Amino acid sequence: MDRGSGGAPMTVGQGRIAAVGAGLTGAVIARDLAEAGYEVDVFDSRSHIAGNCFTERDGETGVLVHVYGPHIFHTDDEEVWNYVNRYGTFLPYKNRVKTTVGGQVYSLPVNLHTINQFFGKTFRPDEAKAFIEAQADTSITDPQTFEEQALRFVGRALYEAFFDGYTRKQWGCAPSDLPASILKRLPVRFNYDDNYFFHRFQGMPENGYTAMVERILDHPGIKLHLGETFRREQAGDYAHVFYSGPLDGYFDYEDGRLGYRTLDFECFTFKGDYQGCAVMNYGEASVPYTRITEHKHFAPWETHEGSVCYREYARACEPGDTPYYPIRLVEEKALLAHYVEKAKQEVGVTFAGRLGTYRYLDMDVTIREALDTARRFRAEAGRGGAMPAFVVAMG
Ligand SMILES: Cc1cc2nc3c(=O)[nH]c(=O)nc-3n(C[C@H](O)[C@H](O)[C@H](O)COP(=O)(O)OP(=O)(O)OC[C@H]3O[C@@H](n4cnc5c(N)ncnc54)[C@H](O)[C@@H]3O)c2cc1C
Repeated sequence: MDRGSGGAPMTVGQGRIAAVGAGLTGAVIARDLAEAGYEVDVFDSRSHIAGNCFTERDGETGVLVHVYGPHIFHTDDEEVWNYVNRYGTFLPYKNRVKTTVGGQVYSLPVNLHTINQFFGKTFRPDEAKAFIEAQADTSITDPQTFEEQALRFVGRALYEAFFDGYTRKQWGCAPSDLPASILKRLPVRFNYDDNYFFHRFQGMPENGYTAMVERILDHPGIKLHLGETFRREQAGDYAHVFYSGPLDGYFDYEDGRLGYRTLDFECFTFKGDYQGCAVMNYGEASVPYTRITEHKHFAPWETHEGSVCYREYARACEPGDTPYYPIRLVEEKALLAHYVEKAKQEVGVTFAGRLGTYRYLDMDVTIREALDTARRFRAEAGRGGAMPAFVVAMG
């Protein structure tokens, strides 16, 4: 194939492919290309597949643990839903989150039950709507920050109980320093619907995500290299590289690090049922963790006497930590633009996935983009075209 010179258009052709990262992005791209006849080397620095969706059984209790934090599958994308069902059996699961605030337990997202309980009322939907509208700060006409947006939507009482403390802990800064865009739509429901997600298809893989990704990767054209960190110098060994590691990491962080939040999970076991639900948030700033997750409740079709729980703490990501949530404030966006330009100068590399594009991506979007990326590559190979550094728009 024509490898071109730095930044020159490059036509894609035949030859061995590298997929960096054995998470959903790397696995889905590898599978698609292997089925099209390519030989694909899949690398992961970790000793296991499935990336951050990795699940494994706890030896003591038998509970299926979501090792890097709980993952619930939800999508409106029928093709993606059919795709995951090809590799795993999905059982129905609805995410119903509770929160402990001011010595009371409430239902989330804030809904009619939460409002009635919080204000000691028995409102019907229209009454609740009028009541909340009267609480809203109408002096804010053009909200710029998360705080202003929340005050305008729900008023001070609900904002302080359910949004302020949690947001401070999650993002490590005041809600007045975060953009209004984080809270895009009204975060309150005027009915008793406490299903966290709106999507048509929701579920959990019966045997966990690791088993699903294992089946995606199970193809004679795919060779797995676990515990191997892929380096930029290796790119020349391949006809094309799909890189789902951190964009700044590809360049050895030579111009600085993109900011992330990381999570610490304090794991503990319990005999019996610790909290009676999968997710209990702690909204107050005085409680150091953001939530406790109890993993056996993510597989309600299983029965376990023992229980495995995680207390979840959010903090700034340091070198050596697992990067979880991209921060994407003004400073990071400038550095991101810089790395995007550098990436566009690379020859034979496409950056994909949540770390490669520095965006928070749910699993369904990750799979959609990975499928689109692999298809684009096959289409370009078919017509002797060029493969871009990014298949998605990088804004
Ligand atoms: C706490 C948390 C909870 C989440 N919950 C949900 C949820 O409920 N529902 C949902 O839909 N989504 C959820 N997500 C999002 C989900 O985790 C992502 O959509 C998914 O993991 C993205 O897959 P990926 O392959 O792009 O990245 P990853 O899963 O991060 O995989 C990237 C892999 O690349 C490897 N790697 C990096 N650099 C290199 C290198 N140089 N060489 C070799 N390997 C390398 C890493 O070790 C990693 O395994 C959650 C995310 C987080 C952080």
